[in-house]
Amino acid sequence: MRNALGLLLATVVAALAITGVWYWVSKPSAAKAAAQSAAAKPSELTPPPTKVAAKGAKDDVEYTGTVPAKPAASAAAPVQPKSTCANPDALGISRTVVVDTSGGPGFGLDHFKQFDFLADREVVLTFDDGPWPGNTPAVLKALADECTTGIFFSIGKHATYHPEILRLVAAAGHVVGVHTWSHANLNGKKMTDEMAKEELEKGFSAVKFALGANPAPFFRFPQLQHRPSAVAYLGSRNIAMFSCDVDSFDFRSKDADQVVNTVMTGLDKKGKGIILMHDFQKNTALALPTLLRRLKAGGFKVVAMRPKGTLDTLPEYDAMIGQDPKLPTTMTNARPISSVIQTVAQ
Ligand SMILES: [Zn+2]
Repeated sequence: MRNALGLLLATVVAALAITGVWYWVSKPSAAKAAAQSAAAKPSELTPPPTKVAAKGAKDDVEYTGTVPAKPAASAAAPVQPKSTCANPDALGISRTVVVDTSGGPGFGLDHFKQFDFLADREVVLTFDDGPWPGNTPAVLKALADECTTGIFFSIGKHATYHPEILRLVAAAGHVVGVHTWSHANLNGKKMTDEMAKEELEKGFSAVKFALGANPAPFFRFPQLQHRPSAVAYLGSRNIAMFSCDVDSFDFRSKDADQVVNTVMTGLDKKGKGIILMHDFQKNTALALPTLLRRLKAGGFKVVAMRPKGTLDTLPEYDAMIGQDPKLPTTMTNARPISSVIQTVAQ
């Protein structure tokens, strides 16, 4: 009887002990499972954490929770190549927009009113007529010192004279667009549609020749002479057109100070805009360090415009460039502004 009772007690104690051990072991597991399911919910918005799920260890549960935070953190982070910018007070880039050039949208309110995407105090820096020895490298240095970027509308011939300089422009992170083959006035009296087409296409082919890569589908008419049939043609080629808001008139400025004053006066009047300058002009090269400081001091912010894609040049015009022995719209774009140009980083 005592033995039987003792056996019973021993069995009960053993059962309790086993239950206790089971409970001790299982409880943290249940808590861990709950933590896993809770942590997994946010990650449904992100690619599945495959490595984490495969392991299932406690440390990985915490790791799972951090995965969804990464895109949110990066989305809120500032754009910049600021990690490589040595100037803590640089003008920099306030935001980057990507341009869908389908149908040939136009920018610069002097001629194209539809896509008014710049906010007050926002500017876009543009430089025409290069690349050119001395002046273009000086412009590049001034922009690099301020950790900012612009759009360079290259003359095709100049690109073939100095391809190494145009490659420096592209390598520095600027966008390289085109400004015709020979800077011809496309509204000139002797200009035909076929000649205008050749000026456009040879310009793009020459820039491709110089860069060894397709150019941006960005174009500016010489002297802002917008030949209607050429506008329509550029639209059919899905090339964006750039007029301007503030003209530096640097080509007729007597010195660097006059370039700075003309731009700042124009900005005071308009409050924002695409600024037209020439990296071909010595006075602009000399003025740029001061001008960029003035922009910073005036609270102006630089917007970087980048094309969504590049332009496929036409083989028959590419062939014309290679054979030259001298070488080393009427805007009816009905799309809403948000489908043409979007901020991709800020
Ligand atoms: Zn020009």
